[in-house]
Amino acid sequence: MFLTIGTTGTQERPATDLGFLLHKHPDKAQTFSTSHGSAHVFYPEASAERCTAALLLEVDPVALVRRGKGKGRGGAPDAALAQYVNDRPYAASSLLSVALAAVFKSALGGACRAMPERAESPLPLRIEVPALPARGGVELVHKLFAPLGWERVDVTAVPLDEQFPAWGDSRYVRLVLEGELRLADALRQLYVLLPVLDDAKHYWVAPDEVDKLLRAGEGWLADHPERPLITRRYLSHRWGLTRQADQALELVRLAESDDLDVDSVDNAVDESTDTEEKPVPLAEHRRTAILDALRAAGASRVLDLGCGQGQLVQALLKDVRFTEIVGVDVSMRALTIASRRLKLDRMGERQADRVTLRQGSLTYTDKRLAGYDAAVLSEVVEHLDLPRLPALEYAVFGAARPGTVLVTTPNVEYNVRWETLPAGHARHGDHRFEWTRAEFRDWAGQVAERHGYTVRYVPVGPDDPEVGPPTQMAVFTRADTTTTTTTTTTTEKKKKEAEAA
Ligand code: SAH
Repeated sequence: MFLTIGTTGTQERPATDLGFLLHKHPDKAQTFSTSHGSAHVFYPEASAERCTAALLLEVDPVALVRRGKGKGRGGAPDAALAQYVNDRPYAASSLLSVALAAVFKSALGGACRAMPERAESPLPLRIEVPALPARGGVELVHKLFAPLGWERVDVTAVPLDEQFPAWGDSRYVRLVLEGELRLADALRQLYVLLPVLDDAKHYWVAPDEVDKLLRAGEGWLADHPERPLITRRYLSHRWGLTRQADQALELVRLAESDDLDVDSVDNAVDESTDTEEKPVPLAEHRRTAILDALRAAGASRVLDLGCGQGQLVQALLKDVRFTEIVGVDVSMRALTIASRRLKLDRMGERQADRVTLRQGSLTYTDKRLAGYDAAVLSEVVEHLDLPRLPALEYAVFGAARPGTVLVTTPNVEYNVRWETLPAGHARHGDHRFEWTRAEFRDWAGQVAERHGYTVRYVPVGPDDPEVGPPTQMAVFTRADTTTTTTTTTTTEKKKKEAEAA
């Protein structure tokens, strides 16, 4: 199994930088042992003008069978023999994809300490896979790679035997990709699509494969026209996992797509509460409630998780007590709007130092989110499919563990008070659920208990005697935070002082 990655360059920007980006020196041939054989990395050419890295995987077919995971597809009449005489050693497949991930792990992640800006920018790339088993043939290979930004996607069928063209084509193709792409993006595409084309994943597909797929598919899979086929085949036709992946990707697509205006999340129904002459939008009530709760908790370093277009980040910036504000959202589009709203590019250095916007999904744990005073999830949980909620719960309450967590969500009971909202409709098309007060408290109570937090509930907007407030907020306090104890001790101290006096 063999694949080459090449690039071109100049004296100023030498092609050999590829070695830095792949974290493999062009002057050395290196061998790595993987679970199915040896992977060799070497450079057939390495000059300032042209540099090509080759990955060769030498699979041990016997070991593969011994591991009980080989799927012989050689078509030999004797099934036992077919286990040993199979095409695994020669054809690019899921094994090559695993080797790719193992050998080029950092490159796949897009990390390059030596040349961060090179890793971030597109390079002229040429990738060749001489023997790619392709179930679905030339046409499918085209359909998979053509939408991914390559200038040239060249797929040719490999004849069964060149000497005997009459025998027709084999099930292999030769694939050549050329274009300007970020190296990490190109590697991620291969990592997913090689096994998809092979459609014979050699290893057990475990539930964490969904996360691997979502990670490797970031930025290109959500709106790929062949997405259903890709997820289905990548997850070895395991229906439950495929559905999980599809739902998550659909969410990403929605968040990215132009027809979901994140602002409309607030405005999907006219959420104005019209008690006064000039109605106060519910979004403003929410921000006030959130700011009050953050101040009461004494928070200064705050995460706004699912920050959308940055309205809360903007409000936080106005109060100097909030010294560090991090907005996280899965939607690049929302973040772009947020950064424009905040005028990040024109902000003075001291202001700019206080704020960070970051793309990320809240269903993955992220070490960088640990150690904050507080996290806000304002109108976010209802955008996740219920089965994804435990992942968010773990990432926030289990891993990041801020001292205070504020969660707001619509109170579905209040919907009857909105005349503009047809009965039984959610407030926004992208809401996956809307909870009653009891349902919200049930969820929040369990979360608090599982992760060592206490929780109290705050109504947001006019609290209707029958159906409650339009928005409900849960204020979680980590049980070991000192704030509450300090307050009690101070109160006690004052009481004692008063008593003494
Ligand atoms: N917090 C803002 C925006 C709420 S809209 C407000 O109160 O107005 C919900 C936001 O959550 C959207 O911007 C959406 O992109 C984001 N979101 C949804 N699922 C997410 C996920 N898994 N990870 C990160 N952000 C997500």
